[in-house]
Amino acid sequence: MWAEIDHAAIAHNVRVLRERAPQSDVMAVVKADAYGHGLLPVARTAVAAGASWLGVAQFGEAFALRDAGLTTPLLTWLSVPGADFAGVVRRDIDLSASAPWVLDEIAAAARAEGRTARVHLKVDTGLGRGGAFGAAWDDLVRHVRPLEAEGAVRVVGIWQHFAHADAPEHPTVLAQQERFFEAVAIAERAGCRPEVRHLANSAATLVHPSAHADLVRPGIAMYGLTPVPQVDDDFGLRPAMTVRARLALVKRLPAGQGISYGHAYVTDADTVVGLIPAGYADGIPRNATNVGPLLADGRRTAIAGRVCMDQVVVDLGPTSTAGAGDVVTLFGGAPGEPTAQDWADATDTISYEIVTRLGPRVPRLHLRAEGADGAEGAEGA
Ligand SMILES: *Cc1c(COP(=O)(O)O)cnc(C)c1O
Repeated sequence: MWAEIDHAAIAHNVRVLRERAPQSDVMAVVKADAYGHGLLPVARTAVAAGASWLGVAQFGEAFALRDAGLTTPLLTWLSVPGADFAGVVRRDIDLSASAPWVLDEIAAAARAEGRTARVHLKVDTGLGRGGAFGAAWDDLVRHVRPLEAEGAVRVVGIWQHFAHADAPEHPTVLAQQERFFEAVAIAERAGCRPEVRHLANSAATLVHPSAHADLVRPGIAMYGLTPVPQVDDDFGLRPAMTVRARLALVKRLPAGQGISYGHAYVTDADTVVGLIPAGYADGIPRNATNVGPLLADGRRTAIAGRVCMDQVVVDLGPTSTAGAGDVVTLFGGAPGEPTAQDWADATDTISYEIVTRLGPRVPRLHLRAEGADGAEGAEGA
């Protein structure tokens, strides 16, 4: 099994997002190996297509970007006490702070490195996850001012994350937005002068223009998958990942034969089955048993029987002329192909998890990656 990554699609999606938020800069969110698509190639394509910021969750991801030579403004937002704050400051990476202890560790690292650390203060406006909530925001702002005065840190950003951006019209969206701008006002009254205010993930970028502010932070939409599958609009996005495999074995089985562990599938007639050499170790959800959609031998079908660690079986039907080596598609974006969203629907999850969980055994083939900005018409690589 392999994953084809269409960089022309990623570049196209970045442009779609820029057009949706014409007053804002775009921070391409490339955490989790660019949602399984490949951190460095995707980051390069996104920047070439006009993303002027990059965002990742973990320090290690940020280090990989800088150490590969990417100089784009870059934010990393998750840390624990004792993390390598000095490494972040040294590489000119922006940090997020949700609590005074984070600011103290950042300031200590900045003093040690003889630099001013760039910080984005995070406010919890109602997500109930990261960020400073309620009066803790005022404390965070009070805590940062002396560190700014000293030159150890500079507040370059203020930010938040939505709980229900994927539910257009949800009342919490406007409530969180209001609370956010109150929090910005509190920080500005205290003397902070942030360059960027940012609130919007993909869903908010696509459906809540009032949340665009200075910077939008799309992830999933850049990969061509909709964050709002219940909305009947693909926003012109193009799926960037196509996952395919070649059949390792094709054989005929009689009616009434159970297939794979536990015989969760039993043939109802004499039929041809194919063996796909990929399983849950590669990221195929085990609960795709009997439901994971496939395009095989020219028709839509599904996994037959249990998903195993390294293999799954497909029932190709009694008249199939398929042979070993034939290519089957698990998901992609071309007409007739199942989508990552179809896999998500079949396995009770979201498309994010389907692409992100693809394992390290699955090679990523980067197509149309060079000069991605002008590569729309180029053929494969
Ligand atoms: C992952 C993430 C994003 C991107 O979210 P999408 O829904 O994929 O657009 C934006 N901001 C933060 C804080 C995130 O963790």
